[in-house]
Amino acid sequence: MNIQYIDIHTHSHQSTPNIFKISNILIIKTTLNPHEYIPPFSVGIHPWHINESSKQIDLDLLFQIASSSDCVAIGEIGLDKVKGPSIEIQLDILHKQLQTTEKLMKPVILHCVKAYDLLAQLRKQLQPIVPWIIHGFNGSEQLALQLVKQGFYLSFGHQILNPKSKASKTFINLPLDYVFFETDENEASIAHIYQQAARLKSIDENVLKDKIRDNFIKVFGDGLVE
Ligand SMILES: [Zn+2]
Repeated sequence: MNIQYIDIHTHSHQSTPNIFKISNILIIKTTLNPHEYIPPFSVGIHPWHINESSKQIDLDLLFQIASSSDCVAIGEIGLDKVKGPSIEIQLDILHKQLQTTEKLMKPVILHCVKAYDLLAQLRKQLQPIVPWIIHGFNGSEQLALQLVKQGFYLSFGHQILNPKSKASKTFINLPLDYVFFETDENEASIAHIYQQAARLKSIDENVLKDKIRDNFIKVFGDGLVE
């Protein structure tokens, strides 16, 4: 059987043969129409796009779209210490969206920049039932192992195509049990990312595909992929 590539997080909304993708919807304009998007998708208020004046409308819209069966994850949501409003404001919106994830029992796709300590603290405090996936991971091996130990999943993107990146060096020694792949906003193909990942691990690409599919089923259930 030809196992599909699974792209856990992309901003592309086009379907591609042989690729299972979760397309991301950003709540920026409260007028967006989820029917324009090809399922399955994730939806979230990104920390960069928090709008204090429309916060309640945005959260209500998030809940409405997230309740749809076409929505399979909440995200990307998270914390960013480099860009966006104050961390207090970000934490408030993140907290409210995480309550939605628990209510709807849907996994979380997280954006995190220089705020891993806060994220880990939050996880300890909330003890979530739904899985939390940190997307676009490009941190050290030490950080990755710590996060995995705390129960986070890590999703790797185009960074692993560069053998000198932190992501590449980290990925080599990371157990595959908590790993996903993604293209995010990058033009790199998910097939290239898988191929490079298989090369870094010195395993067959089909073995890797199989493993990621198992991880996917563990997190999202067995109704979505073949
Ligand atoms: Zn993204």
